[in-house]
Amino acid sequence: MNKKYTPETSKEAARLHLTGLSTQQVADKMGISRTTIYKWIVKQGVLIRRPSANRYSPEFKAAAVQFYRDNLSTRDVAKKTGVGSRTVATWVSLAGATRSRSCSARHGEDAWNWKGGVTKRSKHPDNAEYRLWRATVFARDRWTCQNCGDVGGKLNAHHILAWAKYVSERYNPNNGITLCEPCHKQVRKRKKKIA
Ligand SMILES: [Zn+2]
Repeated sequence: MNKKYTPETSKEAARLHLTGLSTQQVADKMGISRTTIYKWIVKQGVLIRRPSANRYSPEFKAAAVQFYRDNLSTRDVAKKTGVGSRTVATWVSLAGATRSRSCSARHGEDAWNWKGGVTKRSKHPDNAEYRLWRATVFARDRWTCQNCGDVGGKLNAHHILAWAKYVSERYNPNNGITLCEPCHKQVRKRKKKIA
């Protein structure tokens, strides 16, 4: 039997998706088709995670950053690890592993202006916990906007459940999603409309 859409059922679907279940797993659990689940989650203003987001382990990233600290260029680290050099540059930047003569300087401030990713009106403290949360979200999503698939632009880590309202979810990586700046602006607008 097909259940009808109610705010409760769609909230439940969104909640399950946020806890880490894929849309298919949510569909199986609730006995509802995946297409319907997908629509419900979108209706909740929650962005759908791509199922195939590969993850690099923290150890792997740490090893890549160490290569860089040992004086390899980001390009050499990229060759060694099979990771794109921009990604390496991002890890290096997130790890704060700066060198005086950086081969990635050209990419550095313009393409990967991470501090710029957090706007002035942001309420997030720029503390270690927040930076770790953001780094985890970016890494999980492979520095790819989860809305339009853009890679390499200025990225934001968006709190799906609002930072101000859901205190317990502030540093939950499942409550974060990587968005490029244009998509982030759109989502913020849409959320305001819903609220
Ligand atoms: Zn985007």
